[in-house]
Amino acid sequence: MRKTLVAANWKMHGSKTFAEQLLAELNSGLESGKCSAQVVICPPYPYLGLVGEIASGLALGAQNLSEQASGAFTGEVSAEMLKDFGADYVIVGHSERRSLYGETSALVAEKFAAAKASGLVPMLCVGESLEERESGKALEVVAAQIQAVVELGLPDTWQNAVIAYEPVWAIGTGKTATPEQAQEVHRFIREQLGEAGEQVQILYGGSVKAGNAVELFAKPDIDGALVGGASLKAEEFIQICRAA
Ligand code: PGA
Repeated sequence: MRKTLVAANWKMHGSKTFAEQLLAELNSGLESGKCSAQVVICPPYPYLGLVGEIASGLALGAQNLSEQASGAFTGEVSAEMLKDFGADYVIVGHSERRSLYGETSALVAEKFAAAKASGLVPMLCVGESLEERESGKALEVVAAQIQAVVELGLPDTWQNAVIAYEPVWAIGTGKTATPEQAQEVHRFIREQLGEAGEQVQILYGGSVKAGNAVELFAKPDIDGALVGGASLKAEEFIQICRAA
């Protein structure tokens, strides 16, 4: 049985005060019961230490990392540094990193490998654009993004790794994939992973809200969610976690 996982991607939002208030609400809202999912909070880098200290029972994740271990790489943050601050998870290959910062699937694969080498659980984001979906290429695009990681030939590639299917057209747009559309791609991804596939948590991301979480999580291959906008609102995020 795969455990459900709900990850909060704060993106470039928040402040110390915001983090303290939100975490206080999450701590009490999730503690009081009925959340069997593993919850991971991914704040911006500067808040990792703070969130790690005050988030009780929640795991800590980062939104990005360097593919390099250390050295003269101004502005970069290594996997070991994230570990040092108590992170267990790291998002790799978010579509905003791919489209706005030019991260190729090959670079994303190196980041995935760097995370694993340090014992961080990479949350590999994959997903097609609207144009790719409309031209019938969604599965092909997702398969190629996964293949870039497979090609590295890491030992036990998918052990202690998470995949997030995030159709680009659904991110921050209020337009969620239907549970059927998401399930189709999740099943396809699982099949791509071979034998390891049945163990890997595959999250859905893209306008997940309290109002659509239940029906998404009801699908057999959807093991949780990567939540952006709705993770900044305590009450709504708690409802999503409870639905998982
Ligand atoms: P959203 O973002 O929930 O605001 O659509 C999801 C994500 O980008 O991970």
